[in-house]
Order: sequence, then structure tokens, then C-alpha cells
Amino acid sequence: MYHRVANSEFDPWKLCVSEENFHAQLVAITKAATTMGISDYVEANKAGYPLPKRIAVVTFDDGYVDNLHTALPLLARHKVPATFYITTGYVGSPREFWWDWLETLLIVPNELPAVLELHLPDCKREWKLGDARIYNHFARAADWDVNPWSAPVGTRLNFFYDVWKTLWPLQDKFRWSVLQDIADWSGHPEPTNLERRPMTHDELRRLAQQDFIEVGAHSVDHPPLPAHPEFEQRRQITLSRDFLQEVSPKPVRSFAYPHGEFSAQTITLLQEAGFDSAVTVEQKLAGPNCNAMVLPRFGVRDMSGDDLGLRLQKWFDHVPAANG
Ligand SMILES: [Zn+2]
Repeated sequence: MYHRVANSEFDPWKLCVSEENFHAQLVAITKAATTMGISDYVEANKAGYPLPKRIAVVTFDDGYVDNLHTALPLLARHKVPATFYITTGYVGSPREFWWDWLETLLIVPNELPAVLELHLPDCKREWKLGDARIYNHFARAADWDVNPWSAPVGTRLNFFYDVWKTLWPLQDKFRWSVLQDIADWSGHPEPTNLERRPMTHDELRRLAQQDFIEVGAHSVDHPPLPAHPEFEQRRQITLSRDFLQEVSPKPVRSFAYPHGEFSAQTITLLQEAGFDSAVTVEQKLAGPNCNAMVLPRFGVRDMSGDDLGLRLQKWFDHVPAANG
């Protein structure tokens, strides 16, 4: 599982792999395994066709612009098929993805007011920033290897994560208004970082029309689906499918769960909407008996080709396959 092929000044969620490393990683992947598109893999598995022992399915989530301009030429050069799961509500948006905007507002070297008060749908939340008010380049550099969820309490990264957790389950419309409140409060409303914008409609069409590329749905607004009622889950699933079907010459049959979150109800709704596979973020191998509606994936970080080669060997040889 990939998200972006780009260099990044700061990358709290570890979404970026550099162009150089991605190139080397594709060499390692093609050396270690046979590459297939997700629907070809699912179909062959279902039909019981004999398949190579080691198969790699390359996927990208969200729909960042670098997927077209940087990842696609390298995939073509190495003849690696790939599936791009698109968050359709962001296609053509001049705004960053909401999690990126929050990062632009809170994880930049700056000084923030002492207290943040947010008015949420059913409550009010308040944060006293203390020492986290001031954040400089050195502090940010030291945070490079720290996961937001394990940042010590009282630090800027912990504050960022706490606000992220608060915004995560909100309805998209409401989340944008809260983000605007945070931007106004910060006094440092940064311009959108265009390097990590979502693809435009035309860019997505160019991507989807490559014959070795498949596009899959990743919802409209990227909500954790089980946190929402059935009608909203259905809306997220069917609208994203219909949007993509307009730009994709192939049927849209695969789905990636936003944040990896799903329930039995989500799976039923996907099947009703005609999806025959869906991918999670569970770090396991997909065995021949694996349920196609909960296919596990390994996230690939910004590492060298050699390092990924070793990791692939470990995954193929030692990680148990998901079953059922
Ligand atoms: Zn995503």
C-alpha cells in the first residue's frame, strides 16, 4: 500500500516514498514476486486458476496528484500494474486533504495562542497548549521519527494528534468548518500546499485510461464508515462508485476502506453496490482462502529497494496469511 511518491519536509503519517526509492522498490518487487492488478488477482483466485506462489498487488490510496505525474511513469517503465483508490469528493478540489491541512496548520514551526476551544456538534473541547505553544525547526526535526499516536503528552505533535482524533469521525461538512476555526485561531493560515493536492478530473481520467491501471473507490469524503449510519455509508459507497465509473473505462469493482475501518454492514453494502473486493490496512499476507472483501495490505515506507527486498522476503516467508 502506497499513498504518495514525493519528497516531504515533514511526514507524520509516513505517506511519502521518494521517487528514487520508489523506483528501486519496484525493482525489488518485480524481483521478489509476480505483479498483478487487484481484480485480476481476485478473479483468478476465485476461479481457482493456478497462480504463482508469490504475488504482489501494488495499490495507492487517496488520489494525490503525484500518483499521476511521478508514480505512473515508473510503474509503466517497470510494467507493474497498480490500483488507485480514489477519494472522489476531493477530485478537482483546490484544497488539500483535510488531514494535510490540519498538519499545515499545526505541525509547522510557529507560535500558537495558549488555548484552543472548539465547538463540536455535541460538545465543546478545550486544549491548553502549555509548552506546545512554541514549535521550532529543531523540535520538528526531532519529531521526524515519532509516530503522532506515541508522542508524549504536552508536545506539539501530541496536541496535533489529539485534534486529529477529535476531527476524524466528524461529518465532512462540519469538519471543514472546524478546520476553518482552527485556521482563524492559529493566526498562521498557511496557503494550501499545492504539491500534495488531489488530482483534477482530467488528471484522474488520464490515469484511469492506462490499460495497466485500475481505479477503485475510497469513499467520497474519507470517513471511518462504521461510525456512520447505513444511509450515509451507502451514499459514500455508491456516489464514489458512480463518479469513478464515469472516468474509468473498466468496471469499478474494488474498494479501500478509509482508515481501514469496516463492519459486517459495510461489507454487505459494498456487495450490494457490486464491489467484489475490498482492501484493509491489516498487515498480513492474502492467502488463497482469504475473504476478498477484507484483503490485508502491507504499508510500504520510504526505504531503499534493498530494504524492501529484505522485508518482502520476511513477509512472504514468515507472516501468516489472513484466512476466512
Ligand atoms: Zn485513505
